[in-house]
Amino acid sequence: MADITLWLPENDLIRRQVLNKLTEESGELLQIVGRCLAQGIDKADPKSGKPNIDALADEIADMMAAVAWLREVITLPPGTDARTNRKLSGFHEWQGLLEAAQ
Ligand SMILES: [Mg+2]
Repeated sequence: MADITLWLPENDLIRRQVLNKLTEESGELLQIVGRCLAQGIDKADPKSGKPNIDALADEIADMMAAVAWLREVITLPPGTDARTNRKLSGFHEWQGLLEAAQ
């Protein structure tokens, strides 16, 4: 198998812009999550004074909008919602383990 293979970018304008927006919003969400980890979710941005929880809520809302738009434009494979539910169940199970370990 060749190490180098041909790949071409998404050429559908709408799909490309949906994916661009998802990339942008993912980055913004990652940035505020990092700030919440570094400073505390109950603290505020030292420059703007905006509470970290408010910035986090804003970026979660933006991310949810980007995912909703993607799901309007791109049909995801069957089983995606089932995976979401399995993942959430796993998070709940893990939370129980963490609470028991405290
Ligand atoms: Mg945003």
